[in-house]
Amino acid sequence: QKFMAGLSKTSSTFVGAVNDLFKGRSKIDEDLYEELEEILIGADVGVKTTMELVERLRAEVKERKIKDPAELQPLLSEMIGEMLAGNEERNKLNINEDGLTVILFVGVNGVGKTTTIGKLAHRFKSEGKKVVLAAGDTFRAGAIEQLETWGKRVGVDVIKHQAGADPAAVIYDGIQAAKSRKADILLCDTAGRLQNKVNLMEELKKIHRVAQREVPGAPHEVLIVLDATTGQNALVQAQQFGEAVNVSGIVLTKLDGTAKGGIVIAISHELGLPVKLVGLGEKADDLQEFDSAQFLHALFK
Ligand code: GDP
Repeated sequence: QKFMAGLSKTSSTFVGAVNDLFKGRSKIDEDLYEELEEILIGADVGVKTTMELVERLRAEVKERKIKDPAELQPLLSEMIGEMLAGNEERNKLNINEDGLTVILFVGVNGVGKTTTIGKLAHRFKSEGKKVVLAAGDTFRAGAIEQLETWGKRVGVDVIKHQAGADPAAVIYDGIQAAKSRKADILLCDTAGRLQNKVNLMEELKKIHRVAQREVPGAPHEVLIVLDATTGQNALVQAQQFGEAVNVSGIVLTKLDGTAKGGIVIAISHELGLPVKLVGLGEKADDLQEFDSAQFLHALFK
């Protein structure tokens, strides 16, 4: 229910346009394909993925000798479904059942990293797990306080150093604290400044090494947080971070704030990474698993 509500902006623009196109036309011609391209690109499906979809649609139309535009809608839905299919099998978070699970969050400032950590802490806590947060963004003014605010709100401990401290040392302390408190989950915030990219990437690699050294199998997830409202920029960010750390999945935030939910298709298709969670609002329980069946329903109902 919440998932569908969060997609209402996307749904209201996309559904209308697609219905007009497939149900309001008498024949399948160049015009129709061009308009479809515009709709898809306008919904942030991305040029590359759009072209691929339209090419495949053309091929199917030719092969099956389809004449009625209304038949294109289920076909397109099926093709998008195939592009998203990888998600379903891979979108469960990798949880270490025999000890501490360490999850690193990476992404540029403002995408919703801190908020996502707060939401996820809330979820794990309500499942009865013991959660600790590590304030690994020691660079951005206010980042530590913001994480503490979330810690208080959901009732979990936050391990921090002073502003400007070595983030890898914060994560090290976070791990020791989580171990001695017998915590199940450690959620690690990291910096997202892009002014000094080389430095940031070295910092992330160091954090990664510390986690690897201190806990077998860690980090169990490296989640890149991407803001759905930034469109194709999100793809570029994912590629940049992917060069420094081994990203295991995507959290796509602010899906409630965009009419261009097609970005999900571009992201999962072009990056080959599963969308593990989506943010659908600012409150503690506005975080959900990505559900591709519901997503398709929102696009083609
Ligand atoms: P950070 O710099 O990456 O840690 O970003 P923040 O967590 O501070 O989030 C930036 C802003 O985005 C805040 O105002 C959040 O409330 C807002 N935000 C985060 N996630 C979502 C979401 O899923 N939906 C909406 N509507 N707002 C969000």
